[in-house]
Amino acid sequence: MASADIKPNIRSFDKDELKTLFIEKGEKSFRADQVYQWLWQKHVVSFEAMSNVSKPLRQFLEDNFTIHQLETLTSQKSKDKTIKSAFSLHDGKVVEGVLIPTPKRMTACISSQVGCSLDCKFCATARLKMIRNLTPDEIFDQVVNLNNQAKQNYQLPLSNIVYMGMGEPLLNYKNVMESISLISSPDALGMSPKRITLSTSGIAKMIVKMADDQVKFNLALSLHVANNEKRSKLMSINDSNPLELLADALKYFYEKTGTRVTYEYIIFKDFNDDISDAKELADYCKHIPCKVNVIEYNPIENGYFEQASKQKTEAFIAYLESRNVIVNVRRSRGKDIDAACGQLANKH
Ligand code: SAH
Repeated sequence: MASADIKPNIRSFDKDELKTLFIEKGEKSFRADQVYQWLWQKHVVSFEAMSNVSKPLRQFLEDNFTIHQLETLTSQKSKDKTIKSAFSLHDGKVVEGVLIPTPKRMTACISSQVGCSLDCKFCATARLKMIRNLTPDEIFDQVVNLNNQAKQNYQLPLSNIVYMGMGEPLLNYKNVMESISLISSPDALGMSPKRITLSTSGIAKMIVKMADDQVKFNLALSLHVANNEKRSKLMSINDSNPLELLADALKYFYEKTGTRVTYEYIIFKDFNDDISDAKELADYCKHIPCKVNVIEYNPIENGYFEQASKQKTEAFIAYLESRNVIVNVRRSRGKDIDAACGQLANKH
């Protein structure tokens, strides 16, 4: 019998691996389908609960595997109904996930890493050390948890999922792709990939890889300024992934997937809120069909930046529209509880 600490997490095996394992043990392969369904569709947290599985098989699973669980440590509800939760992982590490209800959508914002290795100057998560990647089941469980919260608090299931919590999803490529395939698989959550958006700081090589993998979900690039010198000041990832390289990768992505990319643009006072910045952005938008989300800056503790004024923001948007750029404005949500973009930093 394996001791508790070395028992493997049963959800690290995919369906085929489970089948092989069961057949080796002299079980019928449909037993693996049943167990898989308990794990990924019914979200049970014990082998005991798998009531259509024979007792000896349940015992075998109990003796040889564990089911890692996500635990909700705290949940805070904002005045605007946004709910931020801290989730504890099996090894005690903590990540945050946010439920964002709007009149049209019920969005889950989820994390892909514990901490982050990047140093984006405006982001609170960047101040944490990078601790580790999340596994596919840990990413998946955030969605299940936030979906339950949505149903309990607002009587609606999730409509959208955004990988905009802690971490850089493209630096945890394999696990993130597996989590998306689980979220969209009819054998698990069965949500359409069109309702999923991955947001990246911009890693050209991995954008090309997503294109080659013919991904079906949406892509957002945290652009923030369409000028290399300025962008490198905001995010040092721009030194190795400058705008031209990103434009080439995105063109390739669009050709292969036909998916319109979203550029996220946090507007900062006296940094990127001028008409000359809007002009550079509109020029950059000519590379591929895209749309721009202009995002209100959420101040972080001891931050370098301030919010752009309403007037500057409006002029900025009007200029983009005059150049036929599709623009949305994303107002900040959950600010009073530090649940807004870039404010996830495990404060508790
Ligand atoms: N690493 C990924 C995903 C996490 S950030 C990425 O960079 O895209 C998700 C979004 O939150 C990004 O667009 C990011 O730029 C934005 N964001 C980060 N800090 C912010 C802040 N202080 N105010 C507003 N948006 C912020």
